[in-house]
Amino acid sequence: MQIISRAFGIYGTNCYVVVLSDGEIIIDPGDGALEWIERVCKNPLAVFCTHGHFDHVYDCDAIKAKFGVDIYIPKDDAFLCQNDPFGLLQAKFNPDILVSDGEEFDFSGVKFAFCHFPGHTPGCSVITAGDVMFSGDFIFKNSIGRYDFPFSDGKLMRQSLKRAVELKNYKIYPGHGEPTSLDAERNSLIRWAQAI
Ligand SMILES: [Zn+2]
Repeated sequence: MQIISRAFGIYGTNCYVVVLSDGEIIIDPGDGALEWIERVCKNPLAVFCTHGHFDHVYDCDAIKAKFGVDIYIPKDDAFLCQNDPFGLLQAKFNPDILVSDGEEFDFSGVKFAFCHFPGHTPGCSVITAGDVMFSGDFIFKNSIGRYDFPFSDGKLMRQSLKRAVELKNYKIYPGHGEPTSLDAERNSLIRWAQAI
């Protein structure tokens, strides 16, 4: 499993491509990701979204139109793709697969699990595969996602942080900024949970 990434859009939102034996999983394709996807992917298998904010789903519709792949998103965030509260999502769309907490999807023998950690958004999730976690806007290197946006919830964020510190170590690929690990972030997450 090889992971490649590039940041897109005004917020530098990381799009990840997970290269598997028979194709690629695309995670959080932001504004302009399609052109890069066309170059680096041979056979896109699916698009996974950690949550529904426009900067993470911006090119979903274009990628679906080009490759005919399904868009997977946590079920509680689908409404953000259909009615973006920021008014910045140009191509509104209906996601194909509305994912529940803990649901797993097998591609090329690799199990991807969506794990619900609400707070940043109602459906905000991390996607795990083996010892790798795509943390979206839940966990960043030395920081966490904002919990003051429309439909954010600080209380849920605090509960999510408390659950996250109990997890095993993961290599973390966040929605913005550099990779990190859960072990490296554990103390920061505890401090954030106390501060909210
Ligand atoms: Zn976000």
